[in-house]
Amino acid sequence: MEQVKFILDEKEIPQYWYNIQADLPEPLPPSLHPGTKKPLMPEDLAPLFPMELIKQEVSTERYIEIPDEVRSIYRLWRPTTLFRARRLEKALKTPAKIYYKYEGSSPPGSHKINTAVAQAYYNKKEGINRISTETGAGQWGSALAFAGACFDIEVKVYMVKISYNQKPYRRVMMQVWGADCIPSPSEQTKAGRAILSRDPDCPGSLGLAISEAVEEAVSREDTHYSLGSVLNHVLLHQTVIGQETKKTLEKINEYPDIIIGCVGGGSNFAGMFLPFIKDKIDGTYPDLRIINVEPASCPTLTRGPYRYDFGDEAGMTPLMKMYTLGHGFIPPPVHAGGLRYHGMAPIICHLLNLGLVEARAEQQLGTFQAGVDFARSEGIISAPEADHAIRATIDEAIKCRESGEAKTILLALSGHGHVDMAAYQAYFDGKLKDHEYSQDKIEQALHDLPKV
Ligand SMILES: *Cc1c(COP(=O)(O)O)cnc(C)c1O
Repeated sequence: MEQVKFILDEKEIPQYWYNIQADLPEPLPPSLHPGTKKPLMPEDLAPLFPMELIKQEVSTERYIEIPDEVRSIYRLWRPTTLFRARRLEKALKTPAKIYYKYEGSSPPGSHKINTAVAQAYYNKKEGINRISTETGAGQWGSALAFAGACFDIEVKVYMVKISYNQKPYRRVMMQVWGADCIPSPSEQTKAGRAILSRDPDCPGSLGLAISEAVEEAVSREDTHYSLGSVLNHVLLHQTVIGQETKKTLEKINEYPDIIIGCVGGGSNFAGMFLPFIKDKIDGTYPDLRIINVEPASCPTLTRGPYRYDFGDEAGMTPLMKMYTLGHGFIPPPVHAGGLRYHGMAPIICHLLNLGLVEARAEQQLGTFQAGVDFARSEGIISAPEADHAIRATIDEAIKCRESGEAKTILLALSGHGHVDMAAYQAYFDGKLKDHEYSQDKIEQALHDLPKV
């Protein structure tokens, strides 16, 4: 029988996170203080994050030890399974070999818990008992809610209003795990009230929800802030995904020709490809292709310029060098809520700028079609975010059918879509549209980029 599932032993959960900053061909451009526009100092971040995470943010140490308490909680869902998509390969009649690493088997149903547990742990260790955060589709909020429950930390979540209404079950999940979730923009913060006075029906955006959560953390002694993507330490924690995958593939003598993942802030995909890109940088696998897939309605990497911008709407976060659609960007209400962010992880942007990774944008109808095709052969109903990566994977596999090449494709499958049935329903009912972000709107949002 041909093997389909490849599962490591619990003992093989990585003991270290892999830090790409040790191996970058050029160092990352520094983040800047939002006021002085000078390179950020560790103490600037102290009101928001525990010192250990601030250190990880700028560390150039190659391997950072995963604390035992964190590894012990990882055992609830790690190692995750690597699948060979044999049924999808057959359905596509492709000679390509498709592997996928599935992060949807964690309690909250996505990769986000890999960093949530680590962040909650370091906060608790430094005496913090309350964390504020934002969430788009609700995946991050529910992951942090569970991590809060693991360490007895109170969690307050600002959820982008459109998702709050589209995805009621995600907020109930947060409630089950003990977190308090409110729609953003809210009346509880200055940033929220400012927007509501201009636009009472504002659907919200991740950038705006970040402003609200950051404002709450800076204005309260007892509260820290936590971010589910974008930052270097978040990508670092996600490298357990790629390290496990690499080890599993080594055991069966495989190495990918192409790695594909979806990117919102970039954490799940970077977590997968960073341990591999090391081999491309050092020349072991110079031809490895790494494809970042984003929605055409939020085309950060494919249409944004590479500039310094704020991470949030109100301009409270440090300035990060990234491809950006402008921090004032309010994305159209497409269903892949987790991919609606105006910027992108500085590490991914740097690698794209260096030509080490590629990016492509997909329209939402094609992504849902791919998700449905995938579910009908592999069974897993994936998150609408992950459907973007599935679309690109299927397209690459079809190219292999046409060229006759038996490439090995590795897909990062970031989560399940069980709480996204309303989105699939809208797709089947013909209510979804493709959105192309107009050049006018992009230029308008870029008009307000900070001058540095
Ligand atoms: C949040 C989320 C994403 C996008 O975030 P990244 O930081 O880019 O990984 C993708 N897929 C799922 C399932 C998510 O929950």
